[in-house]
Amino acid sequence: MKTNPPAMHVLLNAPALKNYPKDSLKSLATALFKAHQETPFTCTNLDEWVGLVKERYHAVMSPPLKPLYNATGVVLSTNLGRACLEPSHLKELELLSGYVNLEVDDTGKRANRCHLVQELLKMLFGAEDALILNNNASALVLVASVFAPKAQNKETLLSYGQLVEIGGHFRAHELLDCVTNLKFVGSTNKTYLQDYQHALSPQTTLITTIHLSNFLQQGFVASVGAKELFKLATAHKILFYEDLGSLQSVPQVQKFLKHAHLVSFSADKLLGSVQGGIVLGAKECVQALAKHPLYRAFRADKIQIYMLARSLQAHIQGQTNPTQRFLAQDQDALLNKALKLLQLLGGMPATLIETTALIGGGVVDTGLKSFGLLLTPKRDFKEFHNVLHQQGLACVLRSDGVLLDTFALFEKDLVGIARIVKSAL
Ligand SMILES: *Cc1c(COP(=O)(O)O)cnc(C)c1O
Repeated sequence: MKTNPPAMHVLLNAPALKNYPKDSLKSLATALFKAHQETPFTCTNLDEWVGLVKERYHAVMSPPLKPLYNATGVVLSTNLGRACLEPSHLKELELLSGYVNLEVDDTGKRANRCHLVQELLKMLFGAEDALILNNNASALVLVASVFAPKAQNKETLLSYGQLVEIGGHFRAHELLDCVTNLKFVGSTNKTYLQDYQHALSPQTTLITTIHLSNFLQQGFVASVGAKELFKLATAHKILFYEDLGSLQSVPQVQKFLKHAHLVSFSADKLLGSVQGGIVLGAKECVQALAKHPLYRAFRADKIQIYMLARSLQAHIQGQTNPTQRFLAQDQDALLNKALKLLQLLGGMPATLIETTALIGGGVVDTGLKSFGLLLTPKRDFKEFHNVLHQQGLACVLRSDGVLLDTFALFEKDLVGIARIVKSAL
């Protein structure tokens, strides 16, 4: 039966809420009362309402992120925050509790906030110029806005074979569609150079490719290489831009740079750093991007800039990051890690099995050989999986049990993980 909630002033003046910020509680209670109209809470008296408000307040005021152990076998997962950051770099962020020389040089004159990162990017990739944005999605939007703006009726060519959903229902071409007239060429499975040639019109000012990210095209397929598209674009005095999605490796990006005016990729995928969009390419193109008003809307903040600079410095010095260390694990190390966890689990219903881990983060991979523990407790697997998740262990629900893939688990966490599994059983 639905009971009426208490009067607002009665609730807010309850002694148990004395030390809480009244205005915030009022907003919270207003929303709760409204929700109560639609789906009644079970609260029947003032004390219960006070308890509910307190509980909701503390939930909202808890740390914004909680740590998870990643037993999903996917190294770069957007849901789990993509790349793990280097602890020593994070410690340095303390410096941001004070003022910093974000946009001033040593004489106090206005300076470019990305100067150092740009130098590092040019050094690492041998690019003529570089720009850093808030993320790679911004790069797509900025490049098309500058070089093929819809407002000026300009067109961008994109193959039907590259209409990619990049996750969370976002599609790269729909981003482009916001700012440019997209002209699709070829077909889903086959696109030829002549498709691009035929599609070119006086309005065409940009040819774009989008990396297929998380899927593979096999069988009766054809696509046009970067070299040919770059040649075509150059011959028509227009631009060729490649959205690489993730970085695969430094030499690979260097190779792509040879055959494109611009390339871009995410900083928090295989590069293993914070969220960011890295644009590399010809100096005049990059500078045109930096001069456009939209650049201001996409610029990176000081935390991103600091962390990205540290990641790039580490790359240049040949130091590995957590993502690279996971990917470098050999079969012996992986087996030992799984065996160690099995041992820590004692006599629990767990079986060591071979698994297939994934790089994730928009990288096409056919799988990495890994090991996992298949937990088969005598209870509902789904419920068990949910309990583990709630306790901070992200794992995989299967029809034959709950899988802990050990690929993306840190060795130092195994004891804590075993404790969670034991307490959940
Ligand atoms: C991941 C991805 C993006 C989006 O990058 P963000 O840095 O997450 O904005 C764009 N294009 C491709 C091909 C991707 O794989």
